[in-house]
Amino acid sequence: MEKYIYLFREVDQAEKAAGSWDGVRGLLGGKGANLADMTRLGVPVPPGFTATTEACNAYLAAGGEFPEGFWDQALAAIEDLEKATDKKFGDAKNPLLVSCRSGAKFSMPGMMDTVLNIGLSDEITEGIAKTSGDPRFAYDLYRRLLHMFGSVVMDVDDEHFEHVLHQQREKAGVKLDADLGADDWKAVVKAYKGVFKQYTGEDFPQDAREQLKRATEAVFRSWNGRRAIDYRNAAKIAHDLGTAVNVQTMAFGNIGPRSATGVCMSRNAATGEPTLEGDYLENAQGEDVVAGTRATDPIQVLGDRMPDVYGELQDIAKKLESHYRNMQDMEFTVERGKLWLLQTRDGKRTAEAEVRIAVDQVEEGLITKEIAVKRVSPAQVDIFLHPKLDPEAVEGSEALATGLAVSPGAAVGQVTFHADDAQQAAKEGRAVVLVRPDTKPDDVHGMLAAQGILTSRGGRTSHAALVARQFGKPAVVGVAEMEIDLASRQFKVGETVIKEGDWISLDGTTGIVYEGEIPTVMADLDNPYLSKLLSWADEFRKLGVRANADYPRDAERAREYGAEGIGLCRTEHMFFEAERLPVVQRMIMARDPEDRDAALAALLPLQRGDFDGLFRAMDGLPVIIRLIDPPLHEFLPGHDELIKDLADLKLQLQHFRTLSEIDAALEEVRTKQRYLEQVEALSEENPMLGTRGVRLGMVIPGVVRMQVRAIFEAACACARGGVDVHPEVMIPLVMHVAELREMRAQLEEEARAVMAEQGIEVPYKFGTMIEIPRAAVTAGELATEAEFFSFGTNDLTQTTFGISRDDAEQGFLVEYLERGILPKNPFETIDPDGVGQLMKWAVEQGRATRSDLEVGICGEHGGDPESIALCHTLGLGYVSCSPFRVPIARLAAAHAALNDR
Ligand code: ADP
Ligand code: MG
Ligand code: MG
Repeated sequence: MEKYIYLFREVDQAEKAAGSWDGVRGLLGGKGANLADMTRLGVPVPPGFTATTEACNAYLAAGGEFPEGFWDQALAAIEDLEKATDKKFGDAKNPLLVSCRSGAKFSMPGMMDTVLNIGLSDEITEGIAKTSGDPRFAYDLYRRLLHMFGSVVMDVDDEHFEHVLHQQREKAGVKLDADLGADDWKAVVKAYKGVFKQYTGEDFPQDAREQLKRATEAVFRSWNGRRAIDYRNAAKIAHDLGTAVNVQTMAFGNIGPRSATGVCMSRNAATGEPTLEGDYLENAQGEDVVAGTRATDPIQVLGDRMPDVYGELQDIAKKLESHYRNMQDMEFTVERGKLWLLQTRDGKRTAEAEVRIAVDQVEEGLITKEIAVKRVSPAQVDIFLHPKLDPEAVEGSEALATGLAVSPGAAVGQVTFHADDAQQAAKEGRAVVLVRPDTKPDDVHGMLAAQGILTSRGGRTSHAALVARQFGKPAVVGVAEMEIDLASRQFKVGETVIKEGDWISLDGTTGIVYEGEIPTVMADLDNPYLSKLLSWADEFRKLGVRANADYPRDAERAREYGAEGIGLCRTEHMFFEAERLPVVQRMIMARDPEDRDAALAALLPLQRGDFDGLFRAMDGLPVIIRLIDPPLHEFLPGHDELIKDLADLKLQLQHFRTLSEIDAALEEVRTKQRYLEQVEALSEENPMLGTRGVRLGMVIPGVVRMQVRAIFEAACACARGGVDVHPEVMIPLVMHVAELREMRAQLEEEARAVMAEQGIEVPYKFGTMIEIPRAAVTAGELATEAEFFSFGTNDLTQTTFGISRDDAEQGFLVEYLERGILPKNPFETIDPDGVGQLMKWAVEQGRATRSDLEVGICGEHGGDPESIALCHTLGLGYVSCSPFRVPIARLAAAHAALNDR
């Protein structure tokens, strides 16, 4: 018969059955696997057992029937607990109480609820009141069971229980539940039983085994609850894993002084500092800490109040860290001075903490560099690039309120109180901050849409905090001084009223909330831990990483971030600068060759200056400069604009008095007229497929000759000054080897002429972009003329798919993605089956012709981790991306190499 139940001490057996530790986590769920694992390690864990995820799946598949033998195995396991604890389940004199806890393979915060204190009845509660001499304790336990069983198992609305509690507090004249006495709890229990009967139509089941059975079924069923399904969809967790159920002897943190319950991270989850971080509550039970109904104490207070327990907790944290080789998030309960661990798992943390912990743990000898590099995701490095509040602006602003800083980064937006509103605002392109008393799984879509999250309740382990951290949203929680009035859509802090739509700024790194819109600045990438981690990534990666940079200042920044050269310098950006555009336009409008040459001569020194700066910034590294690419009409004013200007000018003519005024205006009319004629002459049906790229050079060779002259004059001058220059001239949009042959002959002639004039030789390369399918297909021929290839995957994607990016992204592409016709946006991640295959062919054919062919990729895909992995597989030499993405690319390239091992 199938084994559906594993005692915590049967972990070896589970490992044998499941084949691996990952298998054990699949079988027993993450919580169950680690409870059993801790038991094996000798960490104090209250005895218990786990019903497997297979049992859950069998139960659900059978339409809500336990599989054969399941319940008998559970009853046998209960007997085992009775022996281990010397207590009896359902016995009034010496009762065993248990919790029933869900736990899937992957932690799903708040998705499936736990029932504590199972095994109580009217009689047993009275028994505990007598034997313990503490009726407050006994009735506190019972009311919790009634409440949790009622809401979790029987689906009774929480509100009805909360209402009773509220009334009892009023009656007793106290603010906190903790201040209620035995008689209060007795009264609450009585009322709860009434609520239970009223909303379920039956009496609360008095039989311990019946309670456990129904709680177990409820956990199994909750796997298919709406909230659980939504979360799995959002977090991309498979729907067929099922959840396990953990049944565990209760440890009582609410049995008077020297009893407590809490949560604790083995390192600081916000900064990564190697000190315990957590919250705890004396005289309380599990859920109290996370519920945030009472103010918790920081874990360090436990060090003063119960130093022995705190010391033991520190030791256990260390032990668990060295066992799991990761930072741990633990739940514990202290029962009359005795420490029990209730859960451990790898702790969620901010990107900043992730990086610091990875680096620290390598230096402590806990993990290898390889593990550290693999642990940090490119998306986490991306978070380092998110903006933070401008420190100078913050200096002059007064804080509105302060709460717990649970997820770093700045969020600036208009206040909104509902998740649906936040989602709507995001669709309209408005920045909002979602403000809530607390958040629930139903709010996740709004949290993702908002810039940041602000709550008045909850702690570091609240739903809001966990979700925010997981998805990298700045968040401040537990701002107690904030009074939120959802009905009138406003909140108050003291006398200040903030209404829906008002701007606020929050800092998830300090926990401070400001009124108004504070400017943000980019986070600094100089974090020493990040630098170290990335230097380790560099040891593993095979791909080079270059940057796309048009200006010297971008090149300098790129180099600071670790770029090993420039993969793409777009020369046309410089043509658009205010003082140059008129010269460029004069060149385009030239009526005769002399006119054009004069304009080009004026542009030459300016271009030379641009390249000079680039070569100096990239001393010793290659610099790829792409010759002019866009169609010429892009440098001229728009057609409609010219028509309008002309009409205005003509209207003005009648108001002019003096001849010179009229002359000047007429001259302007003539110029604009000429522009218009030229714009019309240059206009094309499909400019994207028209006279651009190499074709421009074929038609008007003067421009590219001037560019090559500028490149080599700058290179020679730099070389003479001791700079190690490596210019690489890149010809765009080539479709045929004949274009390349002709262009290269002309341009290399110019380059050699410059070097002869200057009396100095510099190493250089001529190469081509591969951005048209025909170029990829005939790459073998192109390589006879090209010393390097650079894939322009944006154009290559457009021409391979036969779609224009702008039209696609603003039109049908979203629908295609929603309907699953395309799995991914091909402009974000390279399409491996189409574009990727062309690249593969081009690399092979190109290298067959020229074995030392240099091959890389430029364009946005070069900064996308998945595309980087593809480039690694295809054996490219380097990827090139925007300077800010260089750190991400370094890490992604290392991941690609490590996954290849
Ligand atoms: P969640 O996944 O929501 O954290 P848990 O199953 O971990 O749910 O339990 C909720 C709370 O109840 C936690 O604080 C946990 O430590 C506490 N708890 C669960 N089982 C026991 C037990 N047997 N004794 C004492 N506290 C428990
Ligand atoms: Mg819970
Ligand atoms: Mg838990």
